[in-house]
Amino acid sequence: MPSVSDYKIATIGSHSALQILKGAKDEGFETICICAKGKSKPYESFRVADKIIEIDDFANFFEIEDQLIKENAILIPHGSFVSYIGPQKMKEVKVMHYGTKGILEWESDRVKERKWLLEANCKLPKIFSSPEEIDRPVIIKFHGAHGGKGYFIANSPEDFYESMRQYPNESKYVIQEYIVGVPIYAHFFYSRLNQELEIMSFDKRYESNADSIGRIAARDQLDANIRTSYTITGNIPIVIRESMLPSIFELGESVVNISKKLVGDGLFGPFCLEGIVDPNLNFYVFEISARIVAGTNPFTYGSPYTWLRYNEPMSTGRRIARDIKEAIEQNHLDKVLG
Ligand code: ATP
Repeated sequence: MPSVSDYKIATIGSHSALQILKGAKDEGFETICICAKGKSKPYESFRVADKIIEIDDFANFFEIEDQLIKENAILIPHGSFVSYIGPQKMKEVKVMHYGTKGILEWESDRVKERKWLLEANCKLPKIFSSPEEIDRPVIIKFHGAHGGKGYFIANSPEDFYESMRQYPNESKYVIQEYIVGVPIYAHFFYSRLNQELEIMSFDKRYESNADSIGRIAARDQLDANIRTSYTITGNIPIVIRESMLPSIFELGESVVNISKKLVGDGLFGPFCLEGIVDPNLNFYVFEISARIVAGTNPFTYGSPYTWLRYNEPMSTGRRIARDIKEAIEQNHLDKVLG
């Protein structure tokens, strides 16, 4: 009978690797961490990696792929991995890979992503096709602007053109309705083994400088000519109002159901709906991540929600390893690989 000792769990040393590797060890797997040279300290110090493979650059991942294949490793993708490799190259990954590769194309293309979320009945911020249409607060997002650097808010076409003068080289952007509310990131897990959707946790991001601008008066902000950026520095756990849970479950289930129409196997494993909740408790989704998000990192020892269900510490990383373990034991590893 196949068992966890026949396989290893591997991931890239960054993003959410600590909880992925710790979770894998808790489920009985040996672990491999692929680190950029000089960046392996956390994975050694926290004792989560049985083996560390150092590479010069994550872009050279394919050079060590054969080594992973020989180890019978199962690779767990996360945000950093996808951004280093690129959604196109993900399809070339040959080592066993947890999750559906095809769905990453849908989450990384803004048009496709929107189609998916709309079909799943998510409320989305309105998109304005031209600056002339701006009739409410909007957020202008430049393509490829990492960490939301340079995003700006405008209220009218005039306002938009005035601010755009500071970005003469930017021609690719999206004009999105700015939702006034609080950001909430909902973390889900869907297993193809029991076909059940679980809510794992919620977080909000701690962003620099957006989360500190409120510490100084509006007049000082203007005097100092401060521009907002949303560079992520950490994640803060949230427990949401309990009456919102039924609709959050519904949203998650609907996103999974629609994904089955888009890509053969559909979405499974961890994913996240990134939203803004307005004062009427509408959950506006502005993005989906079809993989583990770093917002699950505060919960290496489980979240208030996973505690309810599991009665043991269950991080998202560990939930992934449990899914793989159950698939191995049921002789259905194919159900968790993609
Ligand atoms: P990615 O997560 O793809 O790297 P990013 O970090 O560059 O994207 P977003 O996550 O899209 O940028 O947004 C950055 C910040 O702006 C987030 O904190 C989010 O709360 C806020 N934000 C994004 N879209 C909206 C919106 N439509 N209304 C209000 N706030 C928004």
